[in-house]
Amino acid sequence: MCGIVGYIGNKSVVEILMDELSKLEYRGYDSSGIAINADGKIKIYKAEGKLQNIKDLLKDYENETKSAKIGIGHIRWATHGSPTEINAHPHTCNCGKLVIVHNGIIENFKELKEELIKQGCVFTSQTDTETVAHLVAQEYNKVKDLTEAVRLASKKLQGAYALGIMHQDLP
Ligand code: GLU
Repeated sequence: MCGIVGYIGNKSVVEILMDELSKLEYRGYDSSGIAINADGKIKIYKAEGKLQNIKDLLKDYENETKSAKIGIGHIRWATHGSPTEINAHPHTCNCGKLVIVHNGIIENFKELKEELIKQGCVFTSQTDTETVAHLVAQEYNKVKDLTEAVRLASKKLQGAYALGIMHQDLP
């Protein structure tokens, strides 16, 4: 069972995301990841296996992450796609500005993915989750309102899911 966290505030986000993900470790997971907005740019960090692996990875990026104050994080229990770094969340869209963490299953992801590929979306993972990233990004590009974009995209989704979503243009 996975876990999702999100934070916006005045404190350094990486520490908060890691603390909160640690509290969810008991649920069981196979990989983890975070996305932050650092100096106006979305940055994604992921690791297979234990949360300690991503904590170790983040030590190498302290300079670029320390000023960030908004972010989302995830520990994954794979349902679609093997438990690899590529399949770990957060996932993103073609432009890389929208990031998403997801708990649950998108039952109709295959049909949606086929349609999105026809429309030019480039998929990098085997997950059902990435479909949602492309779908919301597509709606956002039309309506320019993230909440409305999520609402419109969710009308097309079948399954049980919780989502955490962040966009670079909305820090
Ligand atoms: N279905 C998604 C995946 O396989 C989310 C799984 C979860 O809830 O951790 O990546």
